[in-house]
Amino acid sequence: MPLYEYRCNDCDHRFEVLQHLNAGTEELLCPQCGGETLEKLFSTFAASAQSSAGKGMAPAGGCCRGTPT
Ligand SMILES: [Zn+2]
Repeated sequence: MPLYEYRCNDCDHRFEVLQHLNAGTEELLCPQCGGETLEKLFSTFAASAQSSAGKGMAPAGGCCRGTPT
């Protein structure tokens, strides 16, 4: 089963859930606050790459990298 990452819109808590591809979020609750408003993130891999890119590194995908004027 694939591993999905969710973020709770109520308390901003992130957690991972193992579930089937066609499973919905109806039965999922935030393990921290019990909130039902969950945002499905793309994947644990993508999410961790995204968060680590923001720390101490030059912003990727900028429009002005190496453009001489
Ligand atoms: Zn929560």
